[in-house]
Amino acid sequence: MSKRILVVGGVAGGASAAARARRLDEHAEIIVFERGPHVSFSNCALPYFLSRTVADSADLVMMDPAQFKKKYNIEVRTENEVIAINREEKTVTVKNLPDGNEYKETYDALILSPGGEPILPGAIEGIRNDNVFGIRNVADIAKLDAYIRDHKAEDIAVVGGGFIGCEIAENLVHAGYKVTLIEAMDQVMTPFDYDMAQILHKEMLDKGMTLIVKDGVKKIGSNVIELSSGRQVKADAVVMAVGIRPETTLAKNAGLAIGETGGIKVNANFQTSDPSIYAVGDAIEVFNRLTCKPMRLALAWPAQMEARAAADHIYGIRNQQKGFIGSSVIRIFSLLAASTGLNEKAAKAAGIPFEIAYVIPSDKVSLMPDAHPIHVKLVFETPTGRLLGAQAIGKGEADRRIDVIAALISMDGTLEDLKNMELCYAPVISTAKDAVNMAALVGLNLLHGVYRQVPLTNVRELVESNACIVDVREPGEYNAGHLLNAINIPLSQLRQRMEEIPKDRPVYLHCRSSQRSYNAIMALQHCGFDNLYNIAGSYLAICLYEYPQDVLFNREKIVTAYNFK
Ligand SMILES: Cc1cc2nc3c(=O)[nH]c(=O)nc-3n(C[C@H](O)[C@H](O)[C@H](O)COP(=O)(O)OP(=O)(O)OC[C@H]3O[C@@H](n4cnc5c(N)ncnc54)[C@H](O)[C@@H]3O)c2cc1C
Repeated sequence: MSKRILVVGGVAGGASAAARARRLDEHAEIIVFERGPHVSFSNCALPYFLSRTVADSADLVMMDPAQFKKKYNIEVRTENEVIAINREEKTVTVKNLPDGNEYKETYDALILSPGGEPILPGAIEGIRNDNVFGIRNVADIAKLDAYIRDHKAEDIAVVGGGFIGCEIAENLVHAGYKVTLIEAMDQVMTPFDYDMAQILHKEMLDKGMTLIVKDGVKKIGSNVIELSSGRQVKADAVVMAVGIRPETTLAKNAGLAIGETGGIKVNANFQTSDPSIYAVGDAIEVFNRLTCKPMRLALAWPAQMEARAAADHIYGIRNQQKGFIGSSVIRIFSLLAASTGLNEKAAKAAGIPFEIAYVIPSDKVSLMPDAHPIHVKLVFETPTGRLLGAQAIGKGEADRRIDVIAALISMDGTLEDLKNMELCYAPVISTAKDAVNMAALVGLNLLHGVYRQVPLTNVRELVESNACIVDVREPGEYNAGHLLNAINIPLSQLRQRMEEIPKDRPVYLHCRSSQRSYNAIMALQHCGFDNLYNIAGSYLAICLYEYPQDVLFNREKIVTAYNFK
């Protein structure tokens, strides 16, 4: 007898699971239930309709039920909500939303991919106003777009600085609106550490966005919102992007186990606590292979990967479940920002001993007109050198650098592996020693105690405590902007001026990007100095780190002038 496979949710995970099941079994009866009006749409491209990068909201829908039937012989029932799972009889109860009729369907295997719903915090006064939007599907983005056009909105507030909030905010800026991005935490984009997030903050400020951090929304009115600090922000429309809540009601009511992170608990084959029911996508929790703890990973690629694995398992194909590390990328105006694995914060929270390497090489040979700095922060375990995570930000291919590191992390790679990684090179594409090779070399130096470093997050304190800071850039660079109390001993004069460097107290060296200061430290150490620290990231990273905080928190500068080149 042919199998009957029912799928709840017809987008990233659901549509993928159904299509995979069909490829494995031509005779199965496969039915997909979708509460909304569309299936198989590109959630990830939704923000790009606001800027008309995607010209028509209809273009966001990739396949309709008729095409599913024709191409895959899969029955798709839109506007049909599964309202109960009856595990004893292996049926689901479905509500046909247009006419309200309820009916039952039997299953041999059930795949849940219900996703997550945008959180609209009830404590915010006015959260249910007509001018407040959560974005999840094509109807939501079309509704927001129509509202801001019909109401001739000028000022729009986006609440939440995660992926969705940042992408919506950027597209609204491109569409010509005055955008305020409000984030309750001290930074946007939590896959990045606080220091790396400042580069993104600067980009947002540079591109004319108003950025507010460390402040929450208290009250939403028709044209203004009030923040917890009392600050008032003009906003004709408000997009809430403070996170999603996994849709677990159906699973909970059916008595399926829910994990400690609030997602549906699944095993290595994506089976729930009931072996004939699978769950995938934003609604589940997955196993983090680095922390060995459960985590939620609400992204499109895991949903599709899990969906395939679930369908495979129904047909006896085993999936080697190695756990997830969480790789992601976002474009914020001219920058690509990518990350994988654990950042510094996460490694600390997981209690893993670690060190970081921070390099800012050129992404291409610097003679090339489109060469730009690329910031790479690598997190590795000590003393093993096992790679734990990385973040890269730049105008060039940050994603490619992170993909390489992600591949190594998923194979338990170390700094040595990354150092020896053979990567493609041509001057218009990269550098002979790629940014990720360089990050590994710095990491190995630190691991082997070749020199010591201090993080750029310590620099303000060093300046304020009048520590001995030596700037080894050339005089022209120093004069264009330097740390308030830094003395200038250029690398080119170092060997003649060593006696100016004290031996009786710690000395902190920097240049533009820590490479020349590394050379200076090596020369000095060979001459008996043992009190030296390289400032990770150096002047470029210090300026990028300090500037947004100085602007946002109205702080005193610790530099004579910023220099972002
Ligand atoms: C604006 C936006 C931008 C994004 N950008 C990116 C990106 O750039 N990169 C990335 O990796 N990820 C991105 N994501 C996240 C990605 O889209 C999700 O992780 C992915 O879609 C999750 O797939 P899913 O199948 O779990 O849920 P979804 O794709 O959300 O599908 C779940 C579907 O199930 C339906 N449903 C729920 N309950 C029922 C029920 N009881 N009966 C019937 N139907 C039901 C819902 O209506 C929904 O349509 C973005 C998401 C959004 C909203």
